[in-house]
Amino acid sequence: MNEIDLEAEKKEILNRYKALLKASKRRLQKGDKELIRKAFEVAVDAHKEMRRKSGEPYIYHPIAVAQICAEEIGLGTTSIVCALLHDTVEDTDITLDDIRGMFGEKEAKIIDGLTKISGVFDQTSSLQAENFRKMMLTLSDDVRVILIKLADRLHNMRTLESMKRDKQIKIASETLYLYAPLAHRLGLNSIKSELEDLGLKYTNKETYDEIALKLRESEPERKRFIQKFIEPIKDILVEQGFKAKIYGRPKSIFSIYNKIKNKGVEFEEIYDLFAIRIIIDTPYEQEKTDCWRVYSIITDFYHPSPERLRDWISTPKANGYESLHTTVMGPDGKWVEVQIRTKRMDEIAEMGYAAHWKYKDNPDDKEGQLEDWLRKIRELLESPEENAMDFIDDFKLNLFAEEIFVFTPTGEMRTMPFGATALDFAFDIHTKVGQHCIGAKVNHKLVPLNYELKGGDQVEILTSRKQTPKEDWINFASTAKAKSKIKLALKESHRKIADEGREILERKFYKQKLEFTVQNLQDFANFLKLPNSQELFYRVAKDAIGIKEIKDYAKFKAHPEKFAGKKQESAIPQTLEQMVAGARGNADLLVIGDDMQKLDYKLSPCCNPIPGDDVFGFITIGEGIKIHRVNCPNAIQLLSNYAYRVVKAKWNSQHLIAFLAGIKIKGTDELGLVNNITKVISTQYNVNMRSISFDTDSGVFEGTIMVYVHSTEHLTQLINKLKKVNGVQNVVRIDS
Ligand code: MN
Repeated sequence: MNEIDLEAEKKEILNRYKALLKASKRRLQKGDKELIRKAFEVAVDAHKEMRRKSGEPYIYHPIAVAQICAEEIGLGTTSIVCALLHDTVEDTDITLDDIRGMFGEKEAKIIDGLTKISGVFDQTSSLQAENFRKMMLTLSDDVRVILIKLADRLHNMRTLESMKRDKQIKIASETLYLYAPLAHRLGLNSIKSELEDLGLKYTNKETYDEIALKLRESEPERKRFIQKFIEPIKDILVEQGFKAKIYGRPKSIFSIYNKIKNKGVEFEEIYDLFAIRIIIDTPYEQEKTDCWRVYSIITDFYHPSPERLRDWISTPKANGYESLHTTVMGPDGKWVEVQIRTKRMDEIAEMGYAAHWKYKDNPDDKEGQLEDWLRKIRELLESPEENAMDFIDDFKLNLFAEEIFVFTPTGEMRTMPFGATALDFAFDIHTKVGQHCIGAKVNHKLVPLNYELKGGDQVEILTSRKQTPKEDWINFASTAKAKSKIKLALKESHRKIADEGREILERKFYKQKLEFTVQNLQDFANFLKLPNSQELFYRVAKDAIGIKEIKDYAKFKAHPEKFAGKKQESAIPQTLEQMVAGARGNADLLVIGDDMQKLDYKLSPCCNPIPGDDVFGFITIGEGIKIHRVNCPNAIQLLSNYAYRVVKAKWNSQHLIAFLAGIKIKGTDELGLVNNITKVISTQYNVNMRSISFDTDSGVFEGTIMVYVHSTEHLTQLINKLKKVNGVQNVVRIDS
């Protein structure tokens, strides 16, 4: 690097800083500019020797994160300062005390939170779930920690190109698994969509590129249609005195991908590729009336579908989303979704609660809802015994959930996640109510505990003092709160039963002349292959372990050599090296690991990888290395939770070995269709069919065929030929 480059970089750093100031301008108060300047200078100096993977000066990153905070989340000076400093304590000589001295307690606390949760996501040794839990714990301190962390992740995703392929996959999977749902729950819609799109781009590039291309190609036609749709209503809106912005809003690539995947449709068949958005500028008091007036104007021109009206203005979603949605029959006989909202609502919809904090003087109480959400998370975190994986599963359940509104007997409205049961409702009211719940009355009719609530239900919970949580309640509950409370109660009763078992066992040991020592109990548990003595006591109390087992153990203790053959299996290998070593073998089709060794592996049946697929190896316990496709339905979960067990894998050479792949065919049920399909397959070079099954329903044909092919290329050739068969409309590869 020569002098001139450094000078140019200095200039560029200043330019970026100025852009940041500009982005934060609208909320700057007296003294704020100086604070940001100070944070900027501290960060520049601290990171001066560091560079990013791309070779750029490191300081570009904190500036960009700060800019996202200001511009895209709508955060204020404290957050901008903390974003600028977010990597200093972790990566440079600056300490928390330095931050506290230079800026203050609040800033030090936020940066402490950011330092605690960052880095943990880069380590290979610990579980993602545990880290996520730590992150959620910091939520209770200050939600800004999470918002800045999201901005940090967004910028890392935007600059993921320069990372190595295996890092890209890991980071992108984590983003899809944790960060996007979190952004969704916080109501940061545009960040959520961007995270999802980028996540898809790096986990399933082919599909991403294909959809992006099709979106670009169909754009002119879409624009013409939107023009045609808007034309007649634009003038009326102006005439009626509205200041309105109308535009077509395309669906995100990720949501199109989801639709194709989940509904098994082709891109061309998706009718709602975009929505029409109408944003009006209107005073707060008139928002609701005016949105409905606009609705009335639209539906004068276009006929609405009665089932597709969504009023999130009267009852906003729990993440703060407010909007009026309707689907109308547009020109050319096409259904179009229309979203009507005000400027204020739009800002909340795009940027989330943070944007809303600006409107503090408003009489409504949306902040109460954020508080509510935070309170629920804190409650969840209060049951510390729950294991991290369970926690994250339960928690994610609630991140994705849509809401319904139900009522108490006194008419109080409560928000519950979609799919919540009467039992969930009981626990939502109070833990005690949940624990003693015996049933419920919904709309005055008696229903069982697992009754699934519907929007508008009025629910009365029936309790009995004698009732206690039962094992199968876990299946009756769907909310994280109820599940964790039930588990806790079960554990408690398990413990009480175990205490009884302990006394029984002590007497029995005495009779067999065995000493009742900690060591002996541990040995006995080991002998029976039980995880701990607690479990042993429980089984004794439940009569699952009796005098026979105790006698066996006494024999074993007297003559352990006779039992040598029955000794427990070797311990589970701990390190990656040990795991890889355990799986070592020979195979030349795939090379695995950082040094691309030839190891033994199995192809995972959940996604049936074939040569040419983008793949990774996953070290299982007991089954060696399993190869999954990067876009396997289980991949995201595996990659983000067990990153330390993931090894790189690459196809070595394309041997002509047959691999099983599944194909789904849809079409109209024409005479001889099946015959024609099988003919194409059997005449295709080297393809063997393993099974074929098909269904026809009122003229629609749907078939699943399992074939043996050599590579993705080979499979694509076959799919293309099948698409040409008369009557076939759609051919796709399926996972299993
Ligand atoms: Mn960072």
